[in-house]
Amino acid sequence: EQARETHSGWYIHHQDDHAQLDRELSLLGELDEAARDGTLKVAYQPKLDLKSGRIVSAEALVRWHHPVLGPLSPDSFVPLAERHDRIRPLTAYVLDRALADAAEWRARGHSVSVAVNISSLLVASPDFFEAVVAATKRDDFVPGGLIFEVTESAALSDPESAVQALHAFRAMGIKVSLDDYGTGQSTLSYLQQLPLDELKIDRRFVQHAHLQAADAVLVRSTIDMAHQLKLKVVAEGVEDQPCLDFLAAAGCDTVQGYLIGKPMGSDAFVAKLTDFRHAA
Ligand code: C2E
Ligand code: MG
Ligand code: MG
Ligand code: MG
Repeated sequence: EQARETHSGWYIHHQDDHAQLDRELSLLGELDEAARDGTLKVAYQPKLDLKSGRIVSAEALVRWHHPVLGPLSPDSFVPLAERHDRIRPLTAYVLDRALADAAEWRARGHSVSVAVNISSLLVASPDFFEAVVAATKRDDFVPGGLIFEVTESAALSDPESAVQALHAFRAMGIKVSLDDYGTGQSTLSYLQQLPLDELKIDRRFVQHAHLQAADAVLVRSTIDMAHQLKLKVVAEGVEDQPCLDFLAAAGCDTVQGYLIGKPMGSDAFVAKLTDFRHAA
């Protein structure tokens, strides 16, 4: 009786796993198709430099409006692509679009860099490295115009390879930003080891920093520490003016969040850049 229950329990699980895998594989097929037919979009979220009051950069964020399921969060399909070895083509797609769009912004007179999120699985991958080398050989590639946003987990599995890859990216003129700072595991030791240009404080610390003393201390001390390490600091998830005022007073270099702008299409981003220039 018990054995049968155990067996049937396993069987039900097995069926579920199988159905789940089927769904994932068909979604992946549709993701490939979306990349081929251009349904997959890239949205850009502005980063505002507090010293100059100018938008200096934009983060590229992938967007997929599924014909049946509607808009899907990258937090769902990016991990899916990672699990099934499809993250490299997805990232190559975003990188290609981001570089082409940034070249257009420059052609319209806006000197703005573009940031692309690089999965920790890709940082030290030789295949991805080749795609990056090819990207830097584009006619429209400008040193300093491209930022890679990486997370601490990139360094966890194989620190030596990660450090080596990041050094190589920087030698090609790509800047490196540590994303979601404060949510990782081994923050301090990796901060010393990783070759970085920028540190992005995760929005969970940023959003209440002007209201909660504990978050305020964390954000202020992170900014001071980063500056001593010669890193620029970006605060993500800035949604209101009091939060921005707190960050400005704390010496934060750059802010990003709904207050400045939500992720938007390339044309809307150019319009936003023009507005800001007129306002300045
Ligand atoms: P992330 O890189 O930390 O990006 C920031 C996320 O916070 C974005 O969500 C952005 O829309 C959201 N956000 C920005 N400002 C605010 C704000 O003021 N308030 C709130 N509540 N949220 C804000 P999104 O676009 O859904 O992306 C989620 C994550 O998916 C990203 O986190 C990134 O890790 C990943 N992702 C997105 N695009 C790509 C991609 O092309 N490649 C890879 N590997 N990952 C990507
Ligand atoms: Mg990011
Ligand atoms: Mg982030
Ligand atoms: Mg995040």
